[in-house]
Amino acid sequence: MFNSEMPPTMMPVKVNDNAKTVLSKRYYRKDGNGEPIEDATSMFWRVASAIAAEEAKYDKSPFKVEKLAREFFDLMTEFKFLPNSPTLMNAGTDLGQLAACFVLPVGDSMEEIFDGVKHAALIHKSGGGTGFSFSRLRHKDARVGSTGGVASGPLSFLRIFNTATEQVKQGGTRRGANMGILRVDHPDIIEFIRAKERDGDLNNFNLSVALTEKFMQAVEKNEEYDLVAPHSGETKARLKAREVFNMLVQKAWESGDPGIIFLDRINRDNPTPALGEIESTNPCGEQPLLPYEACNLGSINLALVYKDGEDHGIDWKELKRIVHLSVRFLDNVIDASRYPLDRIGEMVRTNRKIGLGVMGWADLLFQLGIPYDSQEALSLAERVMKFVNDESKAASKKLAKERGEFPAYKESTYGQRNLGPYRNATTTTIAPTGTLSIIGACSSGVEPLFALSFARHVMDGEKLVESNPYFKQALIDSGSYSDKLMDEVAQKGSINKIEHLPDDLKRVYVTAMEIEPEWHLKMQAAFQRHTDNAVSKTVNLPNSASKEDIYNIYWMAYEQGCKGVTVYRDGSKSTQVLCTGEGS
Ligand code: ADP
Repeated sequence: MFNSEMPPTMMPVKVNDNAKTVLSKRYYRKDGNGEPIEDATSMFWRVASAIAAEEAKYDKSPFKVEKLAREFFDLMTEFKFLPNSPTLMNAGTDLGQLAACFVLPVGDSMEEIFDGVKHAALIHKSGGGTGFSFSRLRHKDARVGSTGGVASGPLSFLRIFNTATEQVKQGGTRRGANMGILRVDHPDIIEFIRAKERDGDLNNFNLSVALTEKFMQAVEKNEEYDLVAPHSGETKARLKAREVFNMLVQKAWESGDPGIIFLDRINRDNPTPALGEIESTNPCGEQPLLPYEACNLGSINLALVYKDGEDHGIDWKELKRIVHLSVRFLDNVIDASRYPLDRIGEMVRTNRKIGLGVMGWADLLFQLGIPYDSQEALSLAERVMKFVNDESKAASKKLAKERGEFPAYKESTYGQRNLGPYRNATTTTIAPTGTLSIIGACSSGVEPLFALSFARHVMDGEKLVESNPYFKQALIDSGSYSDKLMDEVAQKGSINKIEHLPDDLKRVYVTAMEIEPEWHLKMQAAFQRHTDNAVSKTVNLPNSASKEDIYNIYWMAYEQGCKGVTVYRDGSKSTQVLCTGEGS
């Protein structure tokens, strides 16, 4: 039997102050008085040993498990890879719920709606986020057969989910996050588009409108389209597609809500259509899932694969090693996780979806001296993500040989084309890494830096101040560093209006608001081309951006093959967080 006690030879793990604050508040296990009973070293060992222990099912040698536990420990404590927050919080604990992303169905009956509310509460309590489609609910004022009354419609039920979320705190530290989806052809679509008009309404939900191919064609041709009652299939009204599209643009300009997803495109990439249609994504939009499906995510820190002198400045051999080990880790997480409902556990074990992604992308570009908004950055993004995706598939194939393919493989689109066998129905997803990037001290996901030096608002209004380490080093190297300059940068966030700094420094150290919106979108599309699931990305716009800018971004997202798009115009919400799914 593998002894999961921490070996006395383990080196203590060093984390910076920001990471320390986040870890002790949310991640460390606590005693009855709420005092942490672990530190970074024991936390990472708890996770590494619990996830490695799953190996015993497939390989009886205790040495194998212990060796793997050490490898997982090193992988995480060198911050080369981190699993999603619930895995860090709950692995090796009684709760044991390790996935960040869930999608629940909302059926058109009282029983099904309130089952959904209950199931969401159980998932939030365990640290997961939930997505729902409300498209199956009959519209407001439709007849209800059993009582002879009229239905209250998706929006009124959405508010119940929102209120329930408000009351369920996760381990006493954060509220749950939700995604609410409505199809663009639902009769209540206009009410849905306007649902977050008032600041603070439905604040536990991100909302997205699911656009169909048919709708997009109607926008293009300036035609009308049908609003269809979901329970009867009857056409209730017709709307001008372009007017609805313009309204979406208007609302996104006003407040960033709702976002849009391209539903048919998501379903075109559904690896297991025989098991059902995808109706929704997780809260931040990067993980489309079937009803009752869950997925665990993990992110590779690209800032740490920079190696001077290598092809394109990247240590490809090391990146390959990290991908293979991370895929094994995430596949083990599926088995180690205890799911809040049996039905979810069954679904997860049928498809075995995992979502390996990347973070630290902007930090890698800084080290390479490549501006984010350049063709060179786009080409490298494709190269890096293709490599991660291909290697994740190779790793999944290897696991299938060792452990068997995912049970739905034969009926999956891979099985139908004889591409596998694979261990996992999907392997790649790019998450926002809202808290993981704080723990890993790197830039988040594939986003550019919000500011070179800034205060980050997390958890109950607490503020964390950060300066980018590569930027600081570049200033020192160019002989420009001074305390006075750093103060100025912290105040302005960026350097493009600071005189006397070299132009090449200004070109490389660009921040989110200085990058033209279309470059944000191009970067999202470049990563999407090599990602199974979706890419979390916010197209940041300056306060001065016009509605036409947003219209163009939406249209470009459609044309470039993105699965959805989120825009945010600076200053358009009263409280601003970097990840809208933070929910704290
Ligand atoms: P982290 O960095 O904490 O691992 P991310 O910011 O990458 O998380 O978000 C990934 C996913 O985790 C989200 O899309 C969502 O499904 C889930 N998630 C994030 N924040 C919350 C929250 N406050 N409550 C519940 N789930 C969340």
